[in-house]
Amino acid sequence: MEYPTIAQLFYLVATALFIVGIKRLSKVKTARSGNQLSALGMLLAIVVTLVDPGAGINLDPQTVIAGLIAGSLIGAVMAKRVAMTGMPEMVALFNGVGGLASPFVALSEFWGRTVEHNGGELLLGHDVWAIAIILSVLVGTITFTGSLMAMAKLSGKISGNPIVLPGRHLLVAILLLGGLYAGYQAGFVLESDQAINMIIALTACAAIFGVVSVLPIGGADMPVVVSLLNSYSGIAASMAGFVIGNSLLIVAGALVGASGMILTIIMCQAMNRSLANVLVGGFGGDAPVSGGANEYTNVKQASAEEAAMILETAESVIFIPGYGMAVAQAQHVVKELGEELEKNGCEVLYGIHPVAGRMPGHMNVLLAEADVPYEQLLELEKINSRFKTTDVCVIIGANDVVNPSAIEDPQSPIAGMPILNAHESGTSLMVKRSLSPGYAGIKNPLFERDTNYMCFGDGKVFLQGVLDELKSS
Ligand code: NDP
Repeated sequence: MEYPTIAQLFYLVATALFIVGIKRLSKVKTARSGNQLSALGMLLAIVVTLVDPGAGINLDPQTVIAGLIAGSLIGAVMAKRVAMTGMPEMVALFNGVGGLASPFVALSEFWGRTVEHNGGELLLGHDVWAIAIILSVLVGTITFTGSLMAMAKLSGKISGNPIVLPGRHLLVAILLLGGLYAGYQAGFVLESDQAINMIIALTACAAIFGVVSVLPIGGADMPVVVSLLNSYSGIAASMAGFVIGNSLLIVAGALVGASGMILTIIMCQAMNRSLANVLVGGFGGDAPVSGGANEYTNVKQASAEEAAMILETAESVIFIPGYGMAVAQAQHVVKELGEELEKNGCEVLYGIHPVAGRMPGHMNVLLAEADVPYEQLLELEKINSRFKTTDVCVIIGANDVVNPSAIEDPQSPIAGMPILNAHESGTSLMVKRSLSPGYAGIKNPLFERDTNYMCFGDGKVFLQGVLDELKSS
């Protein structure tokens, strides 16, 4: 019987830290400690690997320590410097570099174990290992280039609208099948230099596949892509774990892969779309972008003073935050305004849509930063029945997530997507700078509703004006 080594026991502790850490990430209150526990698990795993890298693994400790220091420094500087509005792009970039690490591991193993040490005998005869290398390179490279595309779309460096290439379905199929064929040749048929060429071909096919499969996805479907790429990065890491025979990497990758897949399903439900539909459809692919200012008539406006008067008499208020709140950094003034209204005996709640903002959980993060009590945050299913009996709804930089055409217009590109039913409240105050559309690029009929007032201005500046009015009255 083989007894576990001390290293394996420490790996088990690290695995437990990852699992408990991920569990704690599911609640705002415990998320911070969950993150710290997972980071501790990762540090433990690195230290154990340094001390006892495992049979057959040739590790250069200096390189690992240099990587640890460089990675920690880059991560710390980026985390400090990134503006809240830049978080979605940073998350996409982290997914991407996480994905890139896996083909690096797989390719270096492929090179080290075969070309250098076995004098040219390649993967032949090591079927599971060959499959793990092929999948690690394929999925990891797709994750990397796909995430770079997502990052460029989220940061506005390329259009967030679907970019539909002619014959893209055929192109995607050719790249995927071509990549798999090259991987099969490298892993099971060819030897030596020819197999290396095939691995390069596999990497190239996967890299282009990542680009052309994310380009046509845009508008409101981006949350699904971001969470799916997150899941891919975990699957690739898990495969890299099989390549180097590291059980911790297999488990950690599987955890990320599975939790990313769960998030993807939640996002699909939030959009009322199937995953296949998102991936194949290319949201709004042929629909012209609409929602320009000239498409609206009968838009009513309210100044900060008028908005304050409306809020002063309200007995119930729901705040709906959206991407614009992140841009304006208005979360602190929103919280202050909520507290001011509560002093008047008003009931204050926050309606959170799962795809509001530009990354999963975006609004929760912002409101937690402003110390808004967690109990006041209600998810879509919990809050939607309350709008009919709510006096005023204050929409701060949200647009697509309150667009009634999703439930009223079957032809709308977002038809079927559940929205926060702000249009059902007594009065809605829509705080944004102009009549421009949201991320989905479509007209929002709420702007023209009799019960709606457009409150033009930067979210933070406008709400500060409302707060000042309320305090001085
Ligand atoms: P939207 O993108 O629909 O609308 C945001 C609004 O904020 C804009 O209409 C803009 O109008 C306004 N805005 C911008 N800056 C400011 C400011 N300084 N002050 C006040 N308002 C401002 O946001 P939602 O949150 O409603 O919806 C999110 C959208 O993003 C959905 O389509 C979703 O699918 C998509 N998405 C979500 C992701 C996620 O994971 N959550 C990821 C990727 C995409 P104006 O310019 O007139 O001020």
